[in-house]
This record gives sequence, structure tokens and C-alpha cells, in this order.
Amino acid sequence: MSSAPIYSIRMHATTGGDHLCGAERLSTSETLDGIAASLVRRALSHPRGSADALRLSVDRVEPEKVLRGRLLDVTTCAVADWRGGRNAARAFLVKAGVAAGAIDAAMTDLAAGAAPGGKNMRGAMLVDARSGLRLEPDPARGVRASRMDLSSEAEQRLRAELSPRNLDNPHVREAIVLAAKVAAAPGIVAELCWSDDPDYTAGYICTPLHGYLRFPHLKPAGEAIGGRAFFLQPQCDVAETIAFLEEAVVLFDEIGVFHPDRN
Ligand code: AMP
Repeated sequence: MSSAPIYSIRMHATTGGDHLCGAERLSTSETLDGIAASLVRRALSHPRGSADALRLSVDRVEPEKVLRGRLLDVTTCAVADWRGGRNAARAFLVKAGVAAGAIDAAMTDLAAGAAPGGKNMRGAMLVDARSGLRLEPDPARGVRASRMDLSSEAEQRLRAELSPRNLDNPHVREAIVLAAKVAAAPGIVAELCWSDDPDYTAGYICTPLHGYLRFPHLKPAGEAIGGRAFFLQPQCDVAETIAFLEEAVVLFDEIGVFHPDRN
């Protein structure tokens, strides 16, 4: 993807007017139609239902606007169950400088459904890392990190690391890319995520100190409520953080180190 035109592809699907799923990719013109087709298929066969409306946006990006980046180092933390996962995640977030009250507030909101009416948000909550106050302008939409992807060489290298660990699936690959863009945004202290996919109990945190820390259990099996919290430095420029998350185009062409699992 060097000098050829690059396209940002974004998908957002709803069912009954509620957020169902979304995705964001970068592509050359050669792979654009295949990626678009795969995102349509994803929206029609999501574990939480089939989309009854979906939007695909394709925007050409000037090659000189594309920033390059490196993925975070990855570590899996063995935990017995989702309670153990949340306790461990909380302890790491505290070490990274997030106030315990802010973590508890974010976990409570994520577990209850952080959008009004206890629904899943379309994007992430923005949470003040000291006060725990929510800062996103729209609590239903949240803020979606967008316009990021892997170079094809980095994708091959990432898949070669994930495959022997039985982690080579789109959930994990996309989350690792998303976390790297979030970690690179100005004003970010840490991220917390667990999926809204009922079949997928794993989640992660990322912090500059720990990289991407994966927990095989961060929510109970069968639970269809999930989401993301981006913890922000107190008094940071929230508009600048949002602009980077939504608009900056980042292609990750280096992967991080895979560390041994920790207990
Ligand atoms: P998923 O990891 O796709 O199961 O997404 C879980 C939740 O994370 C979604 O319901 C959204 O609230 C949030 N989310 C997903 N993708 C993004 C994104 N690109 N930026 C911000 N939040 C996201």
C-alpha cells in the first residue's frame, strides 16, 4: 500500500434501529470489493442477529496522509473466570494511572450496557481517568476509532504469531489493530474492552506500560452486552483525541513482541 491510492472502508449495521456491528479497514483498489463483500456478509450473519440496515462508506485517502505505526506488545493473562479477569484488569489499570473509582464506574456501565436504555454503544465511552466522568459527546454513539489497518506483510506476521496460540481470528486481529490506534491517540491513558458477542468472553486492556493484555474471560458466557472505555488524562483536549481516533489514517506495518503468558 505505498503510492497506490488507499481507501478507508467503514461498515455500520443496525437491527431494529440498534447498533449491531461495525468494522473499519484500509484497502487498495484491488482488494476493495472483496473487503466490502466480507463486511456485508459479517453484518448479515452476526451472532447477535442479522442486520436489517447497513451502511458502507468508502473514502479515498491521499497516500501522504497515511501514518505508519507499530502494534503493541501482546501478553495473555491466565484467569479462572470473568470475575478473576475483571479483578486482574482493574489492578493493571490502577498501575497505569487510572483511578479505582473510574475503573469501577466504567465496568459498571459496560456491564449494564453503556448506551441509554442499557444498550450497546456503537463506539467507545470516553472516561476521565481521575474522576470517572463520561466525556463522549453522544452516549449512544460514543466515539469510534476508524481508518486503521495492517499492511499485508504485518498481517502475515501477526497471523503467524497468533495461529500457534489458537488466536488467529478476526476478533483478536481487529482488536489488536484498534488498540494500537487508540494507544497512539493524544490524551489516552488506557483502554478496556469486552465484546458484545455472546460467544466471545475474552477481553483486553491496553496501557503504555503493559501493551495489549488479553484476558480469556472478562465477561460471562452468553452475555450480549459489551463495549469499550477509553480512559483520558484529566483536562486533555477531548476534541483533539476524538479527531485523531476518527480521522487520522494509520497503517500498522510492524507488529509487537508476543510475551509468554502470565498468571
Ligand atoms: P466488538 O469488539 O466488535 O465486539 O465490539 C464491542 C464493542 O466495542 C462495540 O459494541 C462498541 O461499543 C465498541 N467498539 C467496537 N468497535 C469500535 C471502534 N472501532 N471504536 C470504538 N469502539 C468500538
